[in-house]
Amino acid sequence: MNPLSLLPSVDRLLADAAITQLIDAHGRAVVTQLVRAALAEARAAAKASGGIPDAPALIAGIADAAEAQARPRLRPVYNLTGTVLHTNLGRAPLPEEAVAALVTAARNPCALEYDIERGGRGDRDDLVEGLLCELTGAEAATVVNNNAAAVFLLLNTLAPRKAVVVSRGELVEIGGAFRVPDIMQRAGAKLVEVGTTNRTHLKDFSAALSPRTAMLMKVHTSNYAIQGFTHAVPEAELAALAHEHNLPFVVDLGSGTLTDLARWGLPHEPTPRESIDAGADLVTFSGDKLLGGPQAGVLAGRKDLIARIKKNPLKRALRVGKLTLAALEAVLRLYRDPDRLHERLTALSLLTRPQADIEAAARRLLPVMQTALAGLPVTLEIVPLNSQIGSGSLPVDRLASAGLAMRPQGKKGGVLHRIEAALRGLPRPVIGRIEDGALLLDLRCLTAAEEGEFTANLAELSCS
Ligand SMILES: *Cc1c(COP(=O)(O)O)cnc(C)c1O
Repeated sequence: MNPLSLLPSVDRLLADAAITQLIDAHGRAVVTQLVRAALAEARAAAKASGGIPDAPALIAGIADAAEAQARPRLRPVYNLTGTVLHTNLGRAPLPEEAVAALVTAARNPCALEYDIERGGRGDRDDLVEGLLCELTGAEAATVVNNNAAAVFLLLNTLAPRKAVVVSRGELVEIGGAFRVPDIMQRAGAKLVEVGTTNRTHLKDFSAALSPRTAMLMKVHTSNYAIQGFTHAVPEAELAALAHEHNLPFVVDLGSGTLTDLARWGLPHEPTPRESIDAGADLVTFSGDKLLGGPQAGVLAGRKDLIARIKKNPLKRALRVGKLTLAALEAVLRLYRDPDRLHERLTALSLLTRPQADIEAAARRLLPVMQTALAGLPVTLEIVPLNSQIGSGSLPVDRLASAGLAMRPQGKKGGVLHRIEAALRGLPRPVIGRIEDGALLLDLRCLTAAEEGEFTANLAELSCS
């Protein structure tokens, strides 16, 4: 007898009670497709080996596949990398106020471009422009998809076929895809590099000016530091030189926090207000770096320049949606009360979390981890660590932190990679980092409120 004839038919499987339940959960189309695929696979395996799976095994496989397909691809993870604003893990987690605003905007029609007072068409930028002006000292502001888009739009509007003068020390690359020279070229502007890698003087800028010059530009060297024998021209001097020649001076701040981080013992990061006070005509910055909001790019500065930027047809292509604006508005509102910002703005509360607090978490989680790793040839201990801010912000500064370190017993380093993979394989993946022969879990970004769920999640660990 042909063993293939022992395989159930598609119709028989679809009529099975367990499969009916799957259909209720996932829909007939998806389950039918999985049933066909499972039978095809069983037939191929039977031809190769002669053995065929029984019906319960087939059904279990189909259930697993249905579950795997239904799981969202954009899954929450635990960020225990020690990098707080991790670009690959979505940068700033949003504060509850922003999450609530975003959900309301998602669920309902809302006055995105509608002037409720006058009953007519409005401008989506009006939702946040007032707050942005208040918080930066700018006359006007507009919002686009991210800071890369903000820089692109600025150059494309104010400098097409014209020259933009930038210091050689500031031609940054951010995460591979954003490079100042490339974005210039794509925006249609001509880059004029002045000075040297480590030192640029005002006279370098003035010597580079020509009738073709559109603007002077400063790019914040957010993700690297040049140390030693260096010189950069202060913003106020660049602004004065630009204005003498009737040119705008623009600053790409990168991160652009809206408050002085030194207030919380963090290193100082330049703010839009400082640049604008120093004479910058336009600044650009990210929404989801130190600002702690959703992915967005802000352009703030002179009213006439913002008006020109908003008239560029590419503004329409780079605009943000209602979800971004809802979250951004809520985050900006938190900045109006700086006294409580560190408690309410998630990114800032993570960045300012005291080491002692993180160490206490490590002591609570040590036995939990010990249980999860029982029997594996590793040692486990609490260690002091250094977190990074991330997203290219303040690259050389470190935040004193703490966490758990796993080291292989003996020479078998492979066990760390097995544990690392098992942690990634958890229902909510745990992402740590391997450094100097140790697997490190920096607990800065695991809040006390999340520890219960974290522990339950860890109970599923299997390092086979
Ligand atoms: C991060 C950064 C950018 C890009 O900002 P995104 O919001 O990631 O697009 C541009 N310029 C500087 C200086 C940056 O630090």
